[in-house]
Amino acid sequence: MSSGFPDLVREAGVVGCGGAGFPAHIKASSRADTVIANGAECEPLLHKDLELLVREAPAVVRGIRLLMESTGAKRGIIGVKKKNAERLAPLSAAAQGAGVEVLFLGDFYPTGDEYILVYEATRRLIPPGGIPLNVGVVVSNVETLRNMSRAAEGIPVTSKYVTVAGAVPRAVTLEVPVGTPFADLIRAAGGAAADDVAAFSGGVMMGSLTTDFAQPVTKTCAGLILLPMTHTLVTRKSLTPGAMHRIGKSACDQCSYCTELCPRYLLGYEVQPHKVMRSLSFTATGEDIWNRYADLCCSCGLCTLYACPEDLYPKEACDRSKADSRARGLTWHGKTEVSVHPIYDGRHVPLGRLMKKLGIDRYDVPAGFAEMSVMPRRVTLPLAQYAGQNVPPEAGQNVPLPASKSGTSARPLVRTGERVSRGQKIAEYSGGRTGAHIHASIDGVVSLTEKGIVIEQPQERSRQHA
Ligand code: SF4
Ligand code: SF4
Repeated sequence: MSSGFPDLVREAGVVGCGGAGFPAHIKASSRADTVIANGAECEPLLHKDLELLVREAPAVVRGIRLLMESTGAKRGIIGVKKKNAERLAPLSAAAQGAGVEVLFLGDFYPTGDEYILVYEATRRLIPPGGIPLNVGVVVSNVETLRNMSRAAEGIPVTSKYVTVAGAVPRAVTLEVPVGTPFADLIRAAGGAAADDVAAFSGGVMMGSLTTDFAQPVTKTCAGLILLPMTHTLVTRKSLTPGAMHRIGKSACDQCSYCTELCPRYLLGYEVQPHKVMRSLSFTATGEDIWNRYADLCCSCGLCTLYACPEDLYPKEACDRSKADSRARGLTWHGKTEVSVHPIYDGRHVPLGRLMKKLGIDRYDVPAGFAEMSVMPRRVTLPLAQYAGQNVPPEAGQNVPLPASKSGTSARPLVRTGERVSRGQKIAEYSGGRTGAHIHASIDGVVSLTEKGIVIEQPQERSRQHA
């Protein structure tokens, strides 16, 4: 039986909980001088990382220590928002005792972007198109570190922290079995507070929009933001990509606000969404611009949802451009040197101002952890719950990741009709491209379906109580 830390992490099926879901054993096998725990949580209204840090500070600190030992890193830093310093006093104490630094970050968006976080924590700039490892850093979400800590004790990933907020009577953070239907989360938050709602899974800035509440919570889902169907964010996100680009082509006046407020541009990278928008009008001559000035965009959405005075879609134009680039196998070919824009520090977008602009400031309430047991009768576990499978952050709702980035599906180890117990490995990732094992998140009887492995527990055992 394997026993090295990366093997234990792999065995437990740990993937990044920050959105893209990169298999954690790969990071645990790398060499670095610094490990950064990402607890910045800058998506408006989501608070699951904060609540996890309050409840499970020792496990997160243990996780970062284990990752430091496994990567050879001498320095460990936990990045959190300064506004939460008081609630995070126990975390600070635990970190101090373990020789780990706590970095208090400003309340601006998007502090959780890896390029920004690495710069804020180390003053190092990741080379264009690179990853934190290129500057000796491994970045891991705080929930991923909690899961790594549990993996070292042989505990697999079977649950997920999620926040449910927005148009609900009671915004809450919960720990639920992986595979729980969205409908159960909404019920736990008191039901929808409007007749007709849609939900942003993973956040309003970088998440995907859905009205399918039978959809399951995956290992990468940070939560749900419910909004009335008539809310501008819902209507804007519901447009087809074709319509977004058509409007952009006719209405963009090249004011360049989108570029002037782009956090990657301000950090010194060659991201210029206004030039990508310009190429919508000149596609025959603009191919180079279309690709080059979008490639380093992190899809944070600020340009579309905050900067553009015309309510156009520069982020979506960048998404499309990046997808084109990947489909053609193009790699970064712009300038390789990076120097921070002199106005970087003065042009951050405060979260409060962003929420006002988005029209969601009325939903900005604490989403404290609710000590309730949400035990669904039925869970659905997709066979791939990592990079690319839960769609968005990197790609946005309209642009699927190419196969080369989306990893392989796990192979079921169970058959329809088989009884399984919580924690049992039910699907195996056998190597090759990125992937992760999957474990039963509840006791019950299995069905293999096209959506993944469904586990259903006998009626009399299911319960949901506050
Ligand atoms: S901010 Fe809007 S109008 Fe101005 S250049 Fe960007 S997309 Fe065009
Ligand atoms: S989404 Fe817009 S603001 Fe964000 S990195 Fe991309 S181009 Fe810049």
